[in-house]
Parts: sequence; C-alpha cells; structure tokens
Amino acid sequence: MTSQTSPTVTRALVLFSGGQDSATCLAWALDRFDQVETIGFDYGQRHAVELTCREKVRIGMASLKESWASRLGEDHMIDATVLKSLGETAMTHDVVIETTEAGLPSTFVPGRNLLFLTLAGALAVRRGISVLVGGMCETDYSGYPDCRNDTIQAQAETLRLGLGKPMSIETPLMYIDKAGTWEMAHGLAGQALIDLIVEDTHTCYLGDRSQRHVWGYGCGSCPACELRAAGWDRWQAAK
Ligand code: ZN
Repeated sequence: MTSQTSPTVTRALVLFSGGQDSATCLAWALDRFDQVETIGFDYGQRHAVELTCREKVRIGMASLKESWASRLGEDHMIDATVLKSLGETAMTHDVVIETTEAGLPSTFVPGRNLLFLTLAGALAVRRGISVLVGGMCETDYSGYPDCRNDTIQAQAETLRLGLGKPMSIETPLMYIDKAGTWEMAHGLAGQALIDLIVEDTHTCYLGDRSQRHVWGYGCGSCPACELRAAGWDRWQAAK
C-alpha cells in the first residue's frame, strides 16, 4: 500500500462587486491561488450596473491568461437586500451624496462590509476555503470605518473564533492609493488588464455608463468617479 500525498491546493474566495478595486483583487488572487471563487452581493443598490459588469469582467479575466482561466471557479451571488430595510443611504435610496452629521459620506452603508465578510466566511467554510480577498483600502478611501485594517483583522479573528476554522482576510489594496491600484493591475497582466478594467468595471455611484472617460465610464463628478479619475491621472503622470 502506498500513501499518496497530494500537493496542497490553495484556494481563495474574492469579494467581487464588478468595480475597479475588486477586479484588481480578483486578478491578484488569480495570480497567487490555485483555485479562485467569487462572491457578490445584491444589497438593493440603487444602481445595479456594477453587478451586471461582474460576469463580463470574469469572462474577460479568464481570457487574459490560460492559468487564470483554469483557476477561476464558481461565482456566488448572495441576497443581502436586508441591508436596505435597515435605513436609508445614498447607495440604496434616493438620498443626496453628502457628508452626514456623523462626519461620514451618505454613501456609507453601516455594517455592509461586516455583513459581507460574515456571509463570505460562512460560504468559504462550506466551500473548503480559508482565505477571503477584499478590496478594502484605508489609503485613498471615503472614510468608511469598516474599510480600515483594524476592522478587517478584528473581523478575521471573529470569523476564526466563530466558525472554528482557519480564516484569513487578504486586502492587497489596503495601503496603496488609486494610482497604485492601476499600477498593480498593470503589473499583473499589463495593458490588457487595464483595458478590461477601463471598459468593463464600474465604480460610479450614480450608475452612469453614458459617459466614457480615459479611465472608464461614469458621471465624472461623484466621489467614486473623482477618486478613480484622480488615481488614473496620478498613475499616468508617474509612468
Ligand atoms: Zn460617478
């Protein structure tokens, strides 16, 4: 009788919204893990355009490298519309994008990332996955407290304890700015990945895909568009 040892297969679950950040994280994961699955959340977004971009980006990503095509696994769409029932935000209701009395943008959906990471962790356990990958960033962000590394690492510890399984949360964008995000994508798969991100990902808070800029589609003036455009400009200037 021979004992067979199979090499350890590394697996990751990417929180993938269809935006620039999570698309870059998906490419980052495809470059590092043997098998990569994606999870997306319908939380009653006013503009579901990001969600319709998801499959296009996944298909585009698989076409960039043979190894990425073989590594890219299942996509999971999860209903998180319960978030919308908790109260109004500019992401889920017809509310003006502004800074609220709490000093946070009205686009902040309280508990969103906490819930997403919990749901992702629960799915990961069922899929035999112990690494979550997310595009949270505390460098060039809108001040959301649930994007901070302290929050994310505390949540990873909560998941380990609460699920009784090894679980880590990788956040490759945490300490880089939006120019760095473009540069990371370029480093992973060159201009072809940049073209894919520009053409098929979506970040605009207003869901505008009628205006095409060098950095992609969007209204050009909401906070998400401004961050994406400014990052592009800085990246171009530094090249
Ligand atoms: Zn916009």
